[in-house]
Amino acid sequence: MSTPEDKLLMEEIKRIKNEKSVYIIAHYYQRDEIQDIADFVGDSYAMAVAAKNSPCDTILVAGVDFMAESAAILCPAKTVLSPEPAATCPMANSIEVSDVLKYKQEHPDGLIVSYVNTPAAIKAVSDICCTSSNAVKIIEKLPPDARIFFIPDENLGSYVASKLDRPLDFYPSSCPIHAAVSKDDILQRRAEYPDAEVLVHPECDPEVVASADFVGSTAGMVAYAAKSTANAFIIATECGIMHEIKQSNPDKKLILAKEELICSNMKSITLEKIRYSLENLQTIITVPEDIRVKAAVALEKMITYSS
Ligand code: SF4
Repeated sequence: MSTPEDKLLMEEIKRIKNEKSVYIIAHYYQRDEIQDIADFVGDSYAMAVAAKNSPCDTILVAGVDFMAESAAILCPAKTVLSPEPAATCPMANSIEVSDVLKYKQEHPDGLIVSYVNTPAAIKAVSDICCTSSNAVKIIEKLPPDARIFFIPDENLGSYVASKLDRPLDFYPSSCPIHAAVSKDDILQRRAEYPDAEVLVHPECDPEVVASADFVGSTAGMVAYAAKSTANAFIIATECGIMHEIKQSNPDKKLILAKEELICSNMKSITLEKIRYSLENLQTIITVPEDIRVKAAVALEKMITYSS
């Protein structure tokens, strides 16, 4: 619920962004009030496409650093702003370029499929990127006999491997928020809300994924909740998604799988920081051109393979 102070700030932000012609793109895990002032709200795949199609030459990305970087990679002629460049993703930062190069040396014919939750330098040494909404579709289109290094989310990789019944090589990393949900959390919530359907993000542990009624990306959950006849949902992903689901399903009950599903990096972005960023046109996110060009190939390939 927005406070009166929030409402004033939101009006001010709308005025400045219109005056300066800035397009605001936000992730579903952003604070409710930030989702409300954004021109576009979506998952990381939709955010990348929205950046490419932005009607303005300046884009403000309300999300963690790799999301702003993806916009800068895909839109070299546009100015990309981050209201909080220190907002990062621990999973994205868990893998080094040297880990990828080592794999390539050991498996010269192997393909590197990197989740968009990676820094630009990792995308630059990848063959193709993916998100949780298109990972299955993309790997399905790769040569069936190719050895694949799926980085860096082992849980998402396990989900894709099980959906396609295809072995993948993994990197030992995961999202600390999603990995915190246990099968017992789901069982407890099911006991409390027996009529609720359980919606689980594929970044969760395979045991949690196996206990779901629906497994999908944030965008997938939003779409599923809208079409399901269930009146209540137990949600196993970051709490920010509840805002979007609630808006299109005001009469349905939403229950988080556990209370602590909050990404502090996503929540470090505030209305105040967005106002400052718009007023001062800071912080401009850039990617060194040699890395950008290579990373753009992997991201553009993802968009092509997803359509
Ligand atoms: S929710 Fe997880 S994957 Fe997403 S930004 Fe936060 S730590 Fe990274």
